[in-house]
Amino acid sequence: MKKQYLKCNLCESLRSKYLFSGKDWILGGNENFNLTKCLDCGLVFLNPRPTNFDEIYPCYYYKNYGEQKAGIRILESKKERKILKFKKEGRLLDVGCNKGFFLADMKKYNWDVWGVDISSFSCEYAKKTFKLENIFCANILDIEFEDNFFDVITLWQVIEHLEEPLEVLKKLNRFLKKEGFLLIECPNFSSFSAKIFKDKWQGLDLPRHFFQFNPKTLKKLLNKAGFEVKKIDYFGNLIFNLVILRTSILRALKIEKRPENINKNSLTVTKKRNFSWIILRTIFTFFCFFASCIFSFLRISEVICVYATKNETN
Ligand SMILES: [Zn+2]
Repeated sequence: MKKQYLKCNLCESLRSKYLFSGKDWILGGNENFNLTKCLDCGLVFLNPRPTNFDEIYPCYYYKNYGEQKAGIRILESKKERKILKFKKEGRLLDVGCNKGFFLADMKKYNWDVWGVDISSFSCEYAKKTFKLENIFCANILDIEFEDNFFDVITLWQVIEHLEEPLEVLKKLNRFLKKEGFLLIECPNFSSFSAKIFKDKWQGLDLPRHFFQFNPKTLKKLLNKAGFEVKKIDYFGNLIFNLVILRTSILRALKIEKRPENINKNSLTVTKKRNFSWIILRTIFTFFCFFASCIFSFLRISEVICVYATKNETN
C-alpha cells in the first residue's frame, strides 16, 4: 500500500512521536498503520497515511452502511433530537451525508436539507430513496456555497476521516450563519477504552480514521478555524459508546478476531449461535451499556458531540 508522510494538520509541526500501530479490523490484511502524536500541539494522526482511497474504502463499505445493521438506524434516529432542541427550523448542511437517512429525518421537520458526500453510490441512494434534491457528490473542499448560508452544519463520524480537517472547518465557518451552529460527533481518543484497548479499540478504525481527536485537540482545531466551542456532550451517543466499548472488549478477549479473507460482496460474517451464547452476550451487552453510561458521566466516553458557534470576534 502506498503511503505518504505528513506534517501536523493543526500546527504544521514536523515534530511527532510514535504512539503505537494497529491493523485493519474490517478489511483484514497484515499491514501495520502507525499513530503519531504531534509534539507541539498534541494532535494524534495516522502517519504515514495511505494514498489510494480505493484500497481502504472498497465500494461495499458504503453499500452496506445502514442497510444490514438495524442498530445504525437507531443511531441515526437520535440525531435529529440533537438539532431540534436548539433550533426548530432552518437550512442544514450535512457533510459526509452518506445515504441521507439523517437528512430525510430532518426534512420531515420541514428543514431545508443539503448534503455532500464523496460516495456516488450513497448520493444516488439519498436522491432516489428519500427524494432529496440538494445532494452533491464531491469533496467538501471542491464545492462552494454562499457565505452565511446555513443555520446548522453537521459532521457525524466524519471529521476523523478527512484529509485536511482544518481547511474543511475554515470553509464551513464561511458557510455558517453568525447565529448558526456546527455539530461534530467523533470518537474520543481520550476515552477510557481507547487508553485501555489501544490497537483493539474500535474507535481507531485504521486506516480509515486519519485523525484521533480528543476534546482538547478538537477544541484547538475549531478555535483555529474560527469557531468557539459551546458545549461538549459526553452522553451524546450512548448506543455508539456501547458498541465501541463492547467490540473493543470482544477484540481484547480474542472472541472477535480480525478477518483474514474478506468476502468482497459483503461485510456480514455468519456465526453459529446457540441459546447460552445469546444469554451470555445479552448479559455482557447490558454490562457494557452500564459501563459506558458511567464513562459518559466521568467524561471519558467513547464518542463526543461538540457544539460550536462562529467566534464573535471574526
Ligand atoms: Zn501539531
